[in-house]
Amino acid sequence: MKVSKFGGSSVATAAQIKKVLNIVNSDEDRRIIIVSAPGKRHAEDTKATDLLIRLYEKVINGLDYQSKKQEILERFSDIIDELELKTDLLQQIDSTLEQHIKTLADQPARLLDALKSSGENFNAQIIAAYNNEQGVPTIYLSPKDAGIIVTDEPENAQILPSSYDKIKEIRNIPEKIIIPGFFGYSETNHIVTFPRGGSDITGAIVARGVQADLYENFTDVSGIFRANPTVIHSPEIISEITYREMRELSYAGFGVFHDEALQPLYRYRIPVVIKNTNRPDDPGTYIVHDREINRRRVVTGISCDKGFTSINIKKYLMNRQVGFSVKILNILAENNISFDHMPSGIDNISIIMRTSQLAGKEEKVLNAIRSQCEIDELNVEHDLAILMVVGEGMSAMVGTANKITTALADANINLKMINQGSSEISMMFGISNKDAEEAVKACYQNCYQ
Ligand code: ASP
Repeated sequence: MKVSKFGGSSVATAAQIKKVLNIVNSDEDRRIIIVSAPGKRHAEDTKATDLLIRLYEKVINGLDYQSKKQEILERFSDIIDELELKTDLLQQIDSTLEQHIKTLADQPARLLDALKSSGENFNAQIIAAYNNEQGVPTIYLSPKDAGIIVTDEPENAQILPSSYDKIKEIRNIPEKIIIPGFFGYSETNHIVTFPRGGSDITGAIVARGVQADLYENFTDVSGIFRANPTVIHSPEIISEITYREMRELSYAGFGVFHDEALQPLYRYRIPVVIKNTNRPDDPGTYIVHDREINRRRVVTGISCDKGFTSINIKKYLMNRQVGFSVKILNILAENNISFDHMPSGIDNISIIMRTSQLAGKEEKVLNAIRSQCEIDELNVEHDLAILMVVGEGMSAMVGTANKITTALADANINLKMINQGSSEISMMFGISNKDAEEAVKACYQNCYQ
């Protein structure tokens, strides 16, 4: 059995929806389908989810929201009309939006989640209705009926482990099943969304619940590129990548598959394939638990993300002081800051985090470190980019670090930090934001060309 998820661009128009259903109906094993909200139809377009967020902003600021709502209704009526659906779906969409606005106006976080979920929810109903009209028995299943019961923190749903047994039961439904992605229901019966891009997470949860043989994730590219295609012209597509490699690459900017979506898949080792709705015969990229190392392609991918900050601390004889780093980490924890890397020397330590983590708290955190940790020097470096060079094969092969550092040196890029974890699956380099694109180009050239 396959669980197949289709992203926003795959379900943005009636024509795309027809392509999706051709793919779905051409394979009996594609029984459970997860869909996103209508995405962008062209580069300047706005995703339905963003339109819904704008509607929320109007409502919450007490402004006239009718024209925003109209824009959303038009997105759906375009699809409904073009599919020639004879239903009162548009009327239902309108009244559902009004209902959320009326009942949740005094609970902003709940209203935002309810409105945001509507893009997926309406689209799933439309797609199920159309497939039925084409003569393929198909049902729409709300996340609640599918058993997707989640924690109650708005915009940050986490699946409750007890959900999986309930989800498993949907295996027995004989019709094709269309489930909206991106949200679940809490035990208190509230709609709670996953983080943005979270339809991937729904797909992974359902794939795990029904113990699918394969989780297909359809998007608008034919797989995962070895590097950002806006930086490298027509990069190679990765044919196979492990969960761990994928996690490292998506951490530093590979956006094609949500990193939280890997978690449910690990335990049952359910493979994922990233495929292209517009070119379904392309092989795509498989994300798997284990794979053979390709000695000609030791580096699987290169990613680089900007917007990091490093707090650099020096203290003479730091290595002999018991509990020094714990004090610093406690200060971060007290300020609710999560960090990403912590490279250290005998008398210095750097703590690297996303700049957004420090926003509004920087002075407070630095003052606390100064007053509680008896340090010799403290400085903060903004505008850092993190370059990740990732490959399972690096641990067994000699020379990858040399290859990368030579490429970066030849491109005159200053390495502010280097870190390699004990797993040797990735190398991390801290560089200046301004060098990010050049660094990716230099590494790509040296690894693959
Ligand atoms: N529609 C949601 C978003 O734009 C979720 C998704 O498409 O995965 O973030």
